[in-house]
Amino acid sequence: MALLFALSIPVYPFCADADADAEARDYRFSDAHLHFVDYFQASDGPAALIAAMDAAQVDHAMLTGMSVVKKWAESEPQRPEFVFGDDAAVYWYSLTDVIVARGVLSLPAAQRARLHPFICGFNPTDKNAVDHVRRLLEWYPGLWQGIGEITTRHDDLTALTDGEPARANHPALDPVYALAAEHELPVLIHSNITSVRMKEPLYLEEFEEAIAKHPRTRFIWAHAGTSAAINRRIDLEFLDDEIERLLQAYPNLWIDLSWTVLDEYLLESGDDVNSHWLRIIERHPDRFMLGSDLIGSFDKLSEKLTAYEGLLDALSPQDAKRVARDNFLSVLPPSARAK
Ligand SMILES: [Zn+2]
Repeated sequence: MALLFALSIPVYPFCADADADAEARDYRFSDAHLHFVDYFQASDGPAALIAAMDAAQVDHAMLTGMSVVKKWAESEPQRPEFVFGDDAAVYWYSLTDVIVARGVLSLPAAQRARLHPFICGFNPTDKNAVDHVRRLLEWYPGLWQGIGEITTRHDDLTALTDGEPARANHPALDPVYALAAEHELPVLIHSNITSVRMKEPLYLEEFEEAIAKHPRTRFIWAHAGTSAAINRRIDLEFLDDEIERLLQAYPNLWIDLSWTVLDEYLLESGDDVNSHWLRIIERHPDRFMLGSDLIGSFDKLSEKLTAYEGLLDALSPQDAKRVARDNFLSVLPPSARAK
């Protein structure tokens, strides 16, 4: 019994210094995964984004476009409203980066300083992809602070994408990762750990090869390798052990805990935090970050980030602040790191 008690999870909200704790628990956030536009490249716009950030206590946000656009195909009877609303394809859409740049540059400097734009508008299977990244760095000097979200293995979305399936270890991405290291730009990458049917880490090797081959490139793994489509079909029983193993093996890896991993793995019924996941985060408190993964519409920003409060409350105040806000800032290029 004594041993069990010793291993129990500390309940920080009831610690002795209640005043200091209450102050520490007034969370400020960095959103490490936020799309300025949706799958039709539409957006509520930069003013709405800043207003939503203010309302949600989000000090900083990573800002990316959407690397693909949904086609309104001649064969479809209605104009699609959703990316999966019909059978029409999506295709790679480079203008998305210009849409992001124009949005950010339209804001006053103080608001711009809270946004951290990433380049994503390239086909990750094109061996010329790095040329697009170089062009954007040249066109908007000093603007870009990262690369991504690079979309590779992504179940239904991959199936709808014209051309060959993208993968994290595609030769087209090696020069992109190398350029990222050269400019100290973090890379946010979506790379599902498996398909929607296989109860084994079918695609993990692709992702692991990339992070092993590019140790000077800082990788953020979107959704910890999960997706909503996988969650509907399989329970990834190996996921937490693999995350722990990768964090130990690769100091250039960070984990984005956005919704598909939060809802399905971190939180159990009744919003209790899964104790195994909690311990992994406590052992690596500088390696996890939060993301809303909103696309073009920002009304739900507060709701998306409030959903992490149960997890943050279960961490020490110091670790909660790191995960909620500081870890994302720590991976940005040194010139862009905000206090
Ligand atoms: Zn995303």
